[in-house]
Amino acid sequence: MKITVLAGGVGGAKFLRGLRAHLRQVDPDGFGGTASEVTVVVNTGDDVWLTGLRVCPDLDSIMYTLGGANDEVRGWGRVGESERVSAELTEYGVGWPWFTLGDLDLGTHITRSHLLREGLTLSEVTARLCARWNLGVRLLPMSDQSVETHVVVADPEQPGGERSMHFEEWWVHYRAGLTALRFEQRGLASAVAAPGVVQAILGADVVLFAPSNPVVSIDTIVAVPGIRDALVETGAPVVGVSPIISGSAVRGMAHACLSAIGVETAADAVALHYGARDSGGLLDAWLVDESDAALVAGLEEAGLRVAAVPLWMNSVEATTALAAAALAEAAGLTV
Ligand code: GDP
Ligand code: CA
Repeated sequence: MKITVLAGGVGGAKFLRGLRAHLRQVDPDGFGGTASEVTVVVNTGDDVWLTGLRVCPDLDSIMYTLGGANDEVRGWGRVGESERVSAELTEYGVGWPWFTLGDLDLGTHITRSHLLREGLTLSEVTARLCARWNLGVRLLPMSDQSVETHVVVADPEQPGGERSMHFEEWWVHYRAGLTALRFEQRGLASAVAAPGVVQAILGADVVLFAPSNPVVSIDTIVAVPGIRDALVETGAPVVGVSPIISGSAVRGMAHACLSAIGVETAADAVALHYGARDSGGLLDAWLVDESDAALVAGLEEAGLRVAAVPLWMNSVEATTALAAAALAEAAGLTV
């Protein structure tokens, strides 16, 4: 079975860990071989050049998590990390002092930047980096071209004026506390889907939307020229998992992103934002949390197949069951 997943960083990584565990349970011999093949199309809108290095937060979150090297306590970055180099950079006054690049993490960024400067594409570099970690899934950046998410906010020094900043500055430095007026994806018009992305969507047996940030992870991927068309065209069922539980974004600041695009922080509003495929949208099925069971009927009326199951990814076991439920929805659509 060919499974293609659209994913952002931390939410995507957790979901993928559950999906991999589920596939290993049902298919202990075949997984990673021919029986199940997982391709992940990863958001690269958060990528940034920092102190001369290319940093790809979402690709790295997934690589470290599936590679077993992420910091489980902090929730991101490498386990056993130190920050000596970052402290030196701060002394020199370069980089973003509020955006820590750990020493081990810097090894990844140096390698990536080196290979990019040698002329490799981001997809080729990603394959090289992932080879070390034996992930069992294939990670593809959404595009080899730079598509950077910038956030437009009101300029406090200029009434009626606006200023824009890189998404990471808005998110990490300002903790999404400056009201976003809109998001811009710089470079989008001249970007194309990375090699293999469109084929992975068209040739999939199942397409899954991880419970990732709908605005700055999933929408960003879908906006890359070629990707929306592939999602609309694919013969595979498209099943999404809600990143919103009981009206809350669980962890992180997705609420601020949804408000900026005028979508309520609710599991049904996010599903309707993606839309049902038979009315021109992207989804065949949607998973909401058990606590959101009251939303099922309304979503079914809107043309979606909906299941209410536990959506908290607070253990690998719970996330494994969630991934199984997503695949069961897809199977229900293909019979
Ligand atoms: P990021 O790139 O690191 O921000 O990560 P993603 O875009 O992949 O996912 C972030 C989103 O995951 C958050 O905004 C939450 O809405 C969602 N999320 C985090 N933890 C959980 C969880 O346990 N269950 C569900 N359903 N969603 C979660
Ligand atoms: Ca991200």
